[in-house]
Amino acid sequence: WRRLTEGLSRTSSKLGTGVTDLFTKRKLDGDTLEELEDLLIQADLGVETAGRIAGALSKGRFGKDISPDEVRAVLAAEIEAVLAPVAKPLEVDGAKPFVVMVVGVNGAGKTTTIGKLAAKFRAEGRSVMLGAGDTFRAAAIEQLKVWGERTGVPVVTRPQGSDAAGLAFDTVKQAQESGTDVVILDTAGRLQNKAELMAELEKVVRVIRKVDAAAPHAVLLVLDATTGQNALTQVEAFGRTAGVTGIVMTKLDGTARGGILVAVAAKTGLPVHFIGVGEGIDDLEPFAARDFARAIVG
Ligand code: GDP
Repeated sequence: WRRLTEGLSRTSSKLGTGVTDLFTKRKLDGDTLEELEDLLIQADLGVETAGRIAGALSKGRFGKDISPDEVRAVLAAEIEAVLAPVAKPLEVDGAKPFVVMVVGVNGAGKTTTIGKLAAKFRAEGRSVMLGAGDTFRAAAIEQLKVWGERTGVPVVTRPQGSDAAGLAFDTVKQAQESGTDVVILDTAGRLQNKAELMAELEKVVRVIRKVDAAAPHAVLLVLDATTGQNALTQVEAFGRTAGVTGIVMTKLDGTARGGILVAVAAKTGLPVHFIGVGEGIDDLEPFAARDFARAIVG
């Protein structure tokens, strides 16, 4: 909880202080409601959610005095109601190996999240194998190797420029032969050439299915919270083609835009499994609706 509140402190200070400034010695009327909506939109919660929260708040209270604490309580409850349906843990026991493909734009935090996930699964007693599927970037391959060493997990690699689908095939095959519990596959994220990237991701999926027809069992889209509304564009870009099954939102520690997670949840309904609250190996938290809602409201 401490890590979460510290991590989300920039979002919560924006929202919390904003609410205090807005509702200290003021009534709940058309003006304050409008200002509240603006505040929520600036915090990236999205126009729809902002409108709904303002509506919920005004019910039975319009024209009356209201304390900042009361406003924060209603805010937290409304945000929790949006988030509760999407807060779902990632279950990896359904297959062996359980194949997790990780997608997202370059810089979103894919490799770091893979490292954190590897550490988490290892700590739970599972065997893990990583596939360095961003074969386009030498740095990405190297970075994944470093995470492999740090977490004591084997990393399957091929030289830069190799076929990503071939690498994915090798990784899943090796995991199958060695009886590994979880495979985590990195992928390329050069959205500058969207058509080419999507074709590559589709090919990776097709080839993995030659090893296991039900794989990948999860496709995690990694979204960088600091990009704000851009996150919504990325969900659209990857969503259907890449067959995204769930979201990990990173860098919530570095941003006042944590509300974007609420907008993504409201808009897509996709499960949110984890949030990233730092660069360290332990800075990955399972997503919990109530905790998150309380933490961002301050
Ligand atoms: P990739 O290109 O998608 O693989 O992204 P990387 O994993 O290389 O991450 C890009 C940068 O974001 C790196 O400097 C990471 O340390 C940093 N990063 C990743 N996740 C988080 C997070 O949750 N919080 C913070 N503050 N930084 C993060």
